[in-house]
Amino acid sequence: MSNITLGIIGGGQLGSMLAISAKKLNIKTVIYCDDPDAPAQNFCDEFISGNYNDKEKVIKFVNLVNYVTYEFENIPFKTLSEINKLKPVLPKPSVNRLIQHRLAEKDFVNNLNIRTTRYASVENKSEIEALEDLLPGILKTTTLGYDGKGQHPVNTVEDFNSLNIDYSKGYILEKLVKLKKEISIIITRFNDQKYEIYEPIENKHEDQILKFSKIPADIDKKIYDQSKDWAMSIAEELKYVGTLCVEFFIDRNDNLYVNEIAPRVHNSGHLTINAYNVSQFENHVRAVCGLEQIPLKKISNATMVNLIGDQITNYRKFPKFSDNEFFFDYLKKEIKEKRKMGHITTLI
Ligand code: ADP
Ligand code: MG
Repeated sequence: MSNITLGIIGGGQLGSMLAISAKKLNIKTVIYCDDPDAPAQNFCDEFISGNYNDKEKVIKFVNLVNYVTYEFENIPFKTLSEINKLKPVLPKPSVNRLIQHRLAEKDFVNNLNIRTTRYASVENKSEIEALEDLLPGILKTTTLGYDGKGQHPVNTVEDFNSLNIDYSKGYILEKLVKLKKEISIIITRFNDQKYEIYEPIENKHEDQILKFSKIPADIDKKIYDQSKDWAMSIAEELKYVGTLCVEFFIDRNDNLYVNEIAPRVHNSGHLTINAYNVSQFENHVRAVCGLEQIPLKKISNATMVNLIGDQITNYRKFPKFSDNEFFFDYLKKEIKEKRKMGHITTLI
């Protein structure tokens, strides 16, 4: 056993997969999560359930670990920065604060001369008429959204009237991109100019939730190179440590746009567990805990299908898979509509 213990904030499937990778590297994990039923408690060495503002419990957690990381964005900045005074938090709390706010995130990306869709902040209803050229668009909460939650498609100015929205919470209106495809880049940054970067992954969403991913992505060389370059510029500018995902849109004229950044491991990278010598999870643990960087090698092309809601039920009852199929059950207690319950990766 190494003598490193990694603290992970958040106890969903991403936390589970980080804990599994850490175990493989002989690193102990302690998970802190506000959900007492968090599935990652099945995979870590120690589990603490508590509110993210509960100082006493958070300190108990911090005292058990050498490094702290997180598997989702929506953690109060104050909590992360307080922890960072005691133990290194990676990626840095300031990175998380920037990315958890859709407006700050898009301003940051544009300042690097990297294209995003057009957008504007909406703070009250009276501003909407002036934003007509962003229609059709999607109105999104600036914070706390995931899997399409907090998003409203709007086609006309009249559509805003039928929405019952408290604008004081902070909203962003984004112009709808006429999508040809979506891709993502997963990159692990270890140190200055030291990266491991996976090839672009092609993604399909259903109801704004990721349903399907595959490598190789069916894209041309220009987009292949540009998406990797942009992901590297973003990671370098943030002085990022750990695994990061950049989600991209490709429009019908083959223009590339950054959709959003996830300062963490990402659902589209689940296939890296089976398709590469080192997964996005292992790379994250290696970077955060200061372990050796190993050159990435692809083992196989792959597809990944998310099992959402009761799509998991049949696979639980009849777990019959071929040698090239890998089934992951996140062991969530309750099946809920639109909830990610598991996935299947197929090597092709
Ligand atoms: P989340 O934080 O929920 O992942 P995203 O902004 O990534 O939010 O939106 C989820 C999905 O909704 C995207 O992957 C895409 O399929 C669709 N979508 C979101 N914004 C736009 C947009 N401006 N134009 C086209 N499609 C969009
Ligand atoms: Mg997204």
